[in-house]
Amino acid sequence: GSIWNGVPQAPPDPILGVSEAFKADKDGSKMNLGVGAYRTEEGKPLVLNSVRAAERQMVADMSLNKEYLGIGGNPNFCKLSRELILGADCAAVREGRVSTVQSLSGTGALRIAAEFLGTFYKGAAVYLPNPTWGNHKKIFPNGGVAVKSYRYYNPATRGLDFQGLCEDLCAAPAGSIILLHACAHNPTGVDPTHEQWAEILKVVKAKQLLPLFDSAYQGFASGDLDRDAQAVRMFVNAGLEVIICQSYAKNMGLYGERIGALSFVVADAGVAKKVYSQMQQVIRPMYSNPPMHGAAIVERILSNKENYEAWKLEVKGMADRIISMRTALHSALQKLGTPGNWDHILNQIGMFTFTGLNSAQVTNMTKKHHVYMTQDGRISMAGVTAAKAQYLAAAIDDSVR
Ligand code: PMP
Repeated sequence: GSIWNGVPQAPPDPILGVSEAFKADKDGSKMNLGVGAYRTEEGKPLVLNSVRAAERQMVADMSLNKEYLGIGGNPNFCKLSRELILGADCAAVREGRVSTVQSLSGTGALRIAAEFLGTFYKGAAVYLPNPTWGNHKKIFPNGGVAVKSYRYYNPATRGLDFQGLCEDLCAAPAGSIILLHACAHNPTGVDPTHEQWAEILKVVKAKQLLPLFDSAYQGFASGDLDRDAQAVRMFVNAGLEVIICQSYAKNMGLYGERIGALSFVVADAGVAKKVYSQMQQVIRPMYSNPPMHGAAIVERILSNKENYEAWKLEVKGMADRIISMRTALHSALQKLGTPGNWDHILNQIGMFTFTGLNSAQVTNMTKKHHVYMTQDGRISMAGVTAAKAQYLAAAIDDSVR
């Protein structure tokens, strides 16, 4: 017998498990709309030209070595990252009030933030939107932060439950942490309007809540990096202390490089220094220091004018293709006369459509039509192609009739 006989089998991951099932399916028309990864019009993974260019420059640069980075990562990468989300002219940035560390993508940024909060902000719970990216519910308790939820999505309208959201934030104890998706809410694709963000800001201020922005899709929502940072900048420019978790997985296509950043925007530069020192204390026993390759790519894209301009166009290209797939799927459903209203496919923002398909319908999509998606009815629009939109629409049509 094994020492580990008593270890129970864990369930498959609700998102990554879908990819495993997809791989095992031998059907030629199969589609994987589970994982949120960009695909080209040919259905292939994409390495951006700007990333290729940065990597070529790195290979040619004989001054680069493979020494350890510091605990907080590549300092220039960190500076460029906070400027990307906040704007280079942001007062908090200029005044040295933003502490940034490199992280293992967005997940790693959230994990460091959680443990920091579990240590220095004891007793406060984090309020997550309902629904939210599933991993949020595990990351925070692992860092020592209790999880609660606030109303977000209204299935009846397939839109934002703005009143419910405001009521729940108002009812949260002062000092509570409130997790906000910076743009392109996952899984619903429903974002507050500019006016609604201003209202949320008022409540957060009045109730002295601590906002934590999860920014995994900057540029992916609208195709414009600055526009997708507007909510974060609104809060920071109002003088609030906020926490920001950034990921370059989607907007630079650097999924497997695991590159992201965690920033604390705080009231003064002295506090920023102390916070930075404690972020290092969280990181050091966890993984010592982060890997250098992804950070060097991002650094070369954000600091080189030519690479940066090329990247901006590529981000817009990805966002535009996703938006065009919304139109393609919507009009294919119209043509089929599929029962129900499908306008939410056009209205939702970012990588995902929250289709409204129920669990039985999702099972039909997968079992009968080989369309793989998460059980909550979410599909990645980035996995749809013009050639497959018709097939997908027919599968949805069959599943709802
Ligand atoms: N937050 C949200 C809302 C996400 O959708 C994702 C990616 N699925 C992440 C964080 C983090 O992803 P990664 O660790 O790959 O950057």
